[in-house]
Amino acid sequence: MLLEPYDVVVVGAGVAGLTSSLKLAEEGLRTALVERRPLNKIGERACGDAVGLHHFREIGLEPPSHVVKQEYRGIVLVSPSGRHRIFVPGEGIGVDSVKFAQWLLGECVRRGVELLHSHHLESVKISGGVLERVVVRDLTNGSRKELAAKAYVDASGAVPALRTKLPDEWPISERPRVTDYNAAFREIVELGEPLSNPDYAAIYLNNDVAPGGYWWAFPTSSGREVNLGLGVVMGMGFNPRKNYESFVKPLFNGRTVHSAGGLVPTRRPLPTLVWRNVVVVGDAAYTVNPVHGGGRGSSMLAASIAARNIAEAINLGVSEETLWGMNVDYMKAYGAKQAKLDVLRMYLQLMKNDDLEFLFEKKVVSGDQVYDLGIKGRLSEEVLNSMRKILSLIARPSLLNKLRIVKSYMDRAEKLYLDYYPKSPKEMFKWIEAVNELYSEYSKLIGYAPGPKVSW
Ligand SMILES: Cc1cc2nc3c(=O)[nH]c(=O)nc-3n(C[C@H](O)[C@H](O)[C@H](O)COP(=O)(O)OP(=O)(O)OC[C@H]3O[C@@H](n4cnc5c(N)ncnc54)[C@H](O)[C@@H]3O)c2cc1C
Repeated sequence: MLLEPYDVVVVGAGVAGLTSSLKLAEEGLRTALVERRPLNKIGERACGDAVGLHHFREIGLEPPSHVVKQEYRGIVLVSPSGRHRIFVPGEGIGVDSVKFAQWLLGECVRRGVELLHSHHLESVKISGGVLERVVVRDLTNGSRKELAAKAYVDASGAVPALRTKLPDEWPISERPRVTDYNAAFREIVELGEPLSNPDYAAIYLNNDVAPGGYWWAFPTSSGREVNLGLGVVMGMGFNPRKNYESFVKPLFNGRTVHSAGGLVPTRRPLPTLVWRNVVVVGDAAYTVNPVHGGGRGSSMLAASIAARNIAEAINLGVSEETLWGMNVDYMKAYGAKQAKLDVLRMYLQLMKNDDLEFLFEKKVVSGDQVYDLGIKGRLSEEVLNSMRKILSLIARPSLLNKLRIVKSYMDRAEKLYLDYYPKSPKEMFKWIEAVNELYSEYSKLIGYAPGPKVSW
């Protein structure tokens, strides 16, 4: 059955797909939202559920109070031994994932978005060099529908369902390396004893317990509940659930309310988030902060930028040329910061506990400097100078030298994504070569092995 053509078909009703649909409907576009989960399960996923408030402000979205489970005054970073802490200021909230998604969904439907829940994207039809339609299967009765649109948005998450079905020659179908992902496991635990300081979301750095990631305790419900989890770099044989159960779970007494695992892409964004008449947002486009793995806020940002550019492209005739503004806007707003932080992420993943402990103990970086790094992606000369002073005083030349290399590649990566980002699709392939060269040169220099490409 072929349904009447839409302006846009969005695949995936996570935060990226819901925000895209909402913003597209606000642009006056006829939008269908396809989601394989049943209606009442939309929003149920593994997540730490902590989001910086600035993300909502940036896109003009105010979450209602019933979706907010906790307000945070900042993050506390804890050293491997647990003895040293850095308080990073910054307003954030802990959301109830399901209530948040259901609220967004209600806003979408109120604006006319047509939801096809319990529908699985099964295949695509390409014709005349564009995506002509998608085939979806109704999971309640097995019947199939074909949906056609002027533009399509892939918001199907960390293992993308749409863009991986597109021709290999389309750069948007790129497959990442296994180490570009963190595999994570988390539980929501109702505590016997409430936590004493629920205003801070705690991140514990320990490369033995959480190799290539971290473990976290994000209090909610005024400390009566905690979102507890652990993430590790993928593809190196580590098991996040096993490590969670051995090292984290025994530290907290309580009743598990919900457990789930998931993947999160912790890398720079896809080189292009648009090709032909397809746009990719959210985890499907790797729009996640590579260092802390937070992806909700940046998914909403990417979705919002996508909707604006799709609306303009539909007026002009949709193509990668008319959609190109999406890339330029996104790289400026967030992508260049990701590119920079990806450089730092690789280095952090190689750091040994004693080097981490040392940085904490000697107070080489302050909370404000970590905030600058996390929010703005800025490892400023000022920070480096203070590190230089401290590290030369206490004779850690190799650490200082490595940090110099990291800073220089962070700057070069930012330049590539900001100043030299291609102005049109024609320049794209040359630019991708330059990006690949930069990251592979850096990986070799610091001894980072990115591993094979993923198998999906
Ligand atoms: C354990 C863990 C903890 C995290 N903690 C945080 C945190 O504290 N803060 C933060 O900001 N971020 C966090 N993240 C990252 C964050 O959750 C994601 O970046 C964000 O939710 C991505 O949203 P999305 O809409 O792109 O993808 P998703 O939420 O994965 O949504 C994709 C949707 O597409 C649907 N779909 C997939 N395939 C198909 C198909 N074939 N047909 C139809 N539908 C399909 C899925 O069912 C799903 O509903 C965490 C991630 C993990 C794994």
